[in-house]
Amino acid sequence: MDVYGLIGNPVEHSLSPPLHEAAYAELGIDARYVTFEPDRDAAGQAIDGAAALGVRGLNVTIPFKRDVVKHVRTDDLAERIGAVNTIDFGPVADDDHETGTDADPPRPRGYNTDAAGVQRAFAHHDVALPGTDAVVVGAGGAGRAAAFALADAGSRVHVANRTAERAHSLAEAVPNATGGGLDTLADRVPAADVLVNATSVGMESDETPVDPDLLHADLAVLDAVYSPIETRLLRAANAAGATTIDGAWMLLFQGVEAFEIWTGRDAPVDVMNEALRAGLDRS
Ligand code: NAP
Repeated sequence: MDVYGLIGNPVEHSLSPPLHEAAYAELGIDARYVTFEPDRDAAGQAIDGAAALGVRGLNVTIPFKRDVVKHVRTDDLAERIGAVNTIDFGPVADDDHETGTDADPPRPRGYNTDAAGVQRAFAHHDVALPGTDAVVVGAGGAGRAAAFALADAGSRVHVANRTAERAHSLAEAVPNATGGGLDTLADRVPAADVLVNATSVGMESDETPVDPDLLHADLAVLDAVYSPIETRLLRAANAAGATTIDGAWMLLFQGVEAFEIWTGRDAPVDVMNEALRAGLDRS
């Protein structure tokens, strides 16, 4: 039996176990997905321990996404984002043999599938990103992943953040991006094709980080917040005639991407979506 899992602190309410185990059941894969809650300063030990125990793959959540970067070999996108949410301990590839030695074995590979989660959520809703003007609200972990994902997909990105300095420094790292405070939304959103809320505003509260009057029918709006599923921002976007994409789609596709990295198989997306939404309904 293969073991996959999640490290985070806390992880007790995670929906990743039902999301992944639904895929194993559907495809007849003999595997379990387990949650682990290491001490906050023990990311490296957790990864070494998982490798020693033969764990095949780990997802990584708060507060470890940045810490684990130094313990894995990141792909280019995770390196640029500066955060890893998926670790693959799978069979060592040929190029890994060249970098590792018996005394210093190759480190597991690290990816950021939150970025793929953003791209695939838009693709699933038939929103073509190349050439679009995109606004990302937020410059934390989700904001960084969204900004790089959109830029890599061909969008021109504007980052707006409560702390403007954070938006500026993210915009400097993202190709062709601009940044500013939340006051820049008034100019940017009316002219935008794509809007992502990557702040925690709206999570467990009926608030929106974007004035509903700025929303319009030509926008596609992704809210990274998935609790509640229908946020105030999405309700307002829907009322404005915009295309709306809830945060469960991003959550689903980051898991789908991780599953595909780990197993090399196409994920049963519909089954995983059903399991995720059933879990969200219960929580
Ligand atoms: P984070 O790194 O802590 O960043 C939080 C962001 O929210 C920062 O940009 C922060 O601005 C902003 N913010 C917080 N309170 C605010 C307020 N009252 N007004 C305006 N801006 C405010 O958190 P994160 O990991 O990026 O997560 C952000 C949200 O995305 C959470 O709701 C999380 O659940 C969700 N998320 C969803 C997925 C998914 O798969 N759907 C994946 C990752 C995250 P400052 O920089 O000014 O503090």
